[in-house]
Amino acid sequence: MQNISLYFHIPFCERKCLYCDFYSVESVSSMGLFVDALCGEIAMESDLRKEAEVGTIFFGGGTPSLLSPGQLERILGEVHRRWNVLPGAEITLETNPGTADGGKLKAYRSLGVNRLSIGIQSFDEEELRFLSRIHNSRQAVQCVQDARKAGFGNVSIDLIYSLPGQTMDRWIATLEKGLSLGPEHLSAYSLIVEENTPLVRMVRNGQVTPNPPEAEASIYERTMEVMAATGYGHYEVSNYALPGFRCRHNLVYWHRGEYIGFGPSAHSFVKNAGAETGRRYANVANLSTYLQAIAEGKGPLAFEESVGEKEAQQERIFLGLRGDGLDERILEVFREEGGSARLRPVLEGLIGEGLAVHDDGILRLTDRGYLLCDEIAGRLMP
Ligand code: SF4
Repeated sequence: MQNISLYFHIPFCERKCLYCDFYSVESVSSMGLFVDALCGEIAMESDLRKEAEVGTIFFGGGTPSLLSPGQLERILGEVHRRWNVLPGAEITLETNPGTADGGKLKAYRSLGVNRLSIGIQSFDEEELRFLSRIHNSRQAVQCVQDARKAGFGNVSIDLIYSLPGQTMDRWIATLEKGLSLGPEHLSAYSLIVEENTPLVRMVRNGQVTPNPPEAEASIYERTMEVMAATGYGHYEVSNYALPGFRCRHNLVYWHRGEYIGFGPSAHSFVKNAGAETGRRYANVANLSTYLQAIAEGKGPLAFEESVGEKEAQQERIFLGLRGDGLDERILEVFREEGGSARLRPVLEGLIGEGLAVHDDGILRLTDRGYLLCDEIAGRLMP
């Protein structure tokens, strides 16, 4: 029986953060209408992979912790009516510390959510204000403690490093504060200056100067050292987990599993029967258009493409390298196509330069390799 994952994009935020390019709106007035539409979309899509079993569910956004427990119950109820959700399925909800108190987290837990991903970003008040987060450091700590009291045994925290002018000491203070809370999983992302954000405008008009790449690389290297020394396995460029706590939902993306996304801007990938090829598509990134499409009984599709053999192989190389390693069998495909003569010296070169290790049929990047991950993927691509 095949497994499938479900992603729900909850497109509301109390206030947009300076750096964020995820799709969301600041008014929650249409949350009720949205939940109705989301249930409608689940019903519309329910024939898709009906026979598959749901292994992971992820509520992202936006700010899913703006959902009331009653709204979450409706969505999960609709999922359970349409698909067989496996016992032990991982159900993650992204939580903004400024939007969820202990009572709400307890209610989420009782509805079956078993993993919280808490968007803390920093424990430094000045940095939190710069990022225009709605929470402060005390609320972030409280949120992790409330999660424990609510019965969550699988808590992840998100942190952002390489803020403009951030010193190594300042970042390490945030990282160590995060680790002192004992999360099972930690994601550390560098601050990216995305198009169409207030941050990019501030950079362009000279109000903000991004951290130089060398400073960012040093922080990343130090982060990898601290995480390894504290027992967290590094299993993707930005992700670290204690043994047994890798995010199963994200592994589905990185291992090219199948997933269906619901809500504005959500992406989906479904494979052709028994093949690695398939179809990738995304919903419109606009709440009004989304609501209207569902009301008219139409799919809220914005884009779709088919994924052929060659793209599938390239994705496996790229995602495998960014993630937990590249199975040598994937490279066999390239050998069959005459790529072996070219790939073998590239692989040996990576190992010789200390950028990768060969371990039981899996090619894994070293910490230095992670630093140069995109460049390495370029070397391997046919
Ligand atoms: S709360 Fe999250 S999704 Fe919303 S604007 Fe901030 S970073 Fe983006």
